[in-house]
Order: sequence, then C-alpha cells, then structure tokens
Amino acid sequence: MNECERMDRCRYFLEHLKELEAVQEMWKRKFCKGDKNQCARYMVLKELGVDQVPDYLVPTQVDKAKEILKAGR
Ligand code: SF4
Repeated sequence: MNECERMDRCRYFLEHLKELEAVQEMWKRKFCKGDKNQCARYMVLKELGVDQVPDYLVPTQVDKAKEILKAGR
C-alpha cells in the first residue's frame, strides 16, 4: 500500500512524536505506511479537510472521527 501523503506534515506526529515513541512507530507502520484509510485522522481530513482534524485526535480514535464527521457534515 502507498504511504499516506500526510506523512511529513501530519501535525499529530510533528507535535507528539517525542512521547511514546514505540507506540508512534507502531501506528506509523499500521496506518501511515500501511492502510491510511483505517486512520481516524485520515478519515476526517479526507471528508472535511485537513483544517478540521483536531490536534488531539490519534490514529486509533475511529469512534471520535465518526462523531466529528457526523457533526461536520
Ligand atoms: S496519522 Fe493518519 S493522517 Fe497522519 S500521516 Fe499517518 S495515516 Fe496519514
């Protein structure tokens, strides 16, 4: 699968990479370099645009992403 096009610019990784480095690497493998369509952040940016992705949203928060999408549509 293709790498996520946001890899170098994703605010989540730019701002939180220092903490929990092992978890971040696992998520990068799973989502950013694996299947970005399973990433909560990607779900929101794809539908609503990158400006609507909250900084706090982590890739595994799919339920939260669905709430944001429901409210934002
Ligand atoms: S966290 Fe999600 S949106 Fe950000 S680079 Fe990875 S797959 Fe893309």
